[in-house]
Amino acid sequence: MSLKPTCKEVHQLTSESMDRELTLVERTRVRMHLLVCNACRNFTEQMDLLRKAMRRMVPDKENGDDSL
Ligand SMILES: [Zn+2]
Repeated sequence: MSLKPTCKEVHQLTSESMDRELTLVERTRVRMHLLVCNACRNFTEQMDLLRKAMRRMVPDKENGDDSL
């Protein structure tokens, strides 16, 4: 495993982060790559916005399970 993740790897990890929590190592590698790669920085920013928007669209629980 190289210390320098490729753009492809960063894209993949970013997409995976929508479904699961990334490990500390994975996040560190992504972050290190973002320091040197503008393209991926833009990409992850957009994914982040998308994720936030999606979270807002999915209500976790609209009234209901309020029984005693
Ligand atoms: Zn990149």
